[in-house]
Amino acid sequence: MAKVLIVAEHQDGRLNGSTAKCVTAAQALSPEAVDIVVLAADPAAVAAEAAAIAGVSRVLTVANEANAHAIAQVLAPQVAKLAEGYTHVFGPSSTFGKDLMPCVAALLGVPQVSDLMSVEGERTFKRPIYAGNAIITVEAPAGQAVVATVRTASWKEAGTGGSAAIEAVGVDASLPSHTRFVGLAAGGGDRPDLQSAKRVVSGGRGVGSAENFDIIYRFADRLGAAVGASRAAVDAGYCPNEMQVGQTGKIIAPELYVAIGISGAIQHLTGIKDAGTIVAINKDPDAAIFEIADIGLVGDLFQVLPELEAALG
Ligand SMILES: Cc1cc2nc3c(=O)[nH]c(=O)nc-3n(C[C@H](O)[C@H](O)[C@H](O)COP(=O)(O)OP(=O)(O)OC[C@H]3O[C@@H](n4cnc5c(N)ncnc54)[C@H](O)[C@@H]3O)c2cc1C
Repeated sequence: MAKVLIVAEHQDGRLNGSTAKCVTAAQALSPEAVDIVVLAADPAAVAAEAAAIAGVSRVLTVANEANAHAIAQVLAPQVAKLAEGYTHVFGPSSTFGKDLMPCVAALLGVPQVSDLMSVEGERTFKRPIYAGNAIITVEAPAGQAVVATVRTASWKEAGTGGSAAIEAVGVDASLPSHTRFVGLAAGGGDRPDLQSAKRVVSGGRGVGSAENFDIIYRFADRLGAAVGASRAAVDAGYCPNEMQVGQTGKIIAPELYVAIGISGAIQHLTGIKDAGTIVAINKDPDAAIFEIADIGLVGDLFQVLPELEAALG
């Protein structure tokens, strides 16, 4: 029987929603045996959140000062040790998981299954290729642990109401001395995290300048949304790189996505095709973004946005 270990993603003592999405994927494989491991300096609060996810059997906690920051090279040897009792080890396809899980796979000497979007069998999975334009079915080798990143845009968060047992465990793994935490330079301020936000407002080249991007931030704040951007806006220096949405940026699946001054190039659409409702604001009625938008507003963004803001009160 499959037994799945999920590595919890967390920050500032809060569990990231990506973990509950991994639980849903794991339940498609093995409804009865899904454990979560929380590696942290003080895992108590995060473990309590993880234990409340419906369908989780056990939450393992590894308390260690070295785990105060999510450094893949420090976490990976511990996860690889814990993997011994499991058939599958899952992490989210967020920046955290994309950094960590390949290190875990390398330490276990197995290939990684990336961006798992559906479970077809114990070792058979579907994942996107060619920027999401084709779906491939892959099979992990028999007789080895399956290490996978779960495509967060493809899975809904598992519900709450669970009451899994929380167990502190010690891990006898040698941690590297070559990689240490030095500092964290985080952007984004108080705005929601782009990869887990329920609402996202993105600006494109049509916004015109870094100064003009203030109109996007203001509108996003009015909606309580995270802010994203097209690659053209990032390349033009209107906003930082970590805001890029799309094939070479972040793949997101918010409930609401508002694309402003974005033409709708295939590489951008790849990043948003799992979004719930897509709203597009563009002055060109023939812009490709209108082909996938649920709601389209043809107009000049500098006129439309103040009107929308006023309407939102
Ligand atoms: C390998 C590769 C990877 C890529 N990865 C990504 C990626 O991850 N993400 C990504 O976004 N792109 C990516 N691209 C780039 C992509 O092909 C497009 O060039 C880019 O998405 C265009 O950004 P844009 O829509 O902001 O700009 P444009 O295509 O220039 O569109 C600007 C839009 O703004 C509208 N507009 C202008 N002024 C106004 C106004 N006042 N009011 C309303 N609308 C206005 C215009 O009508 C136009 O539709 C990639 C390209 C390649 C080759």
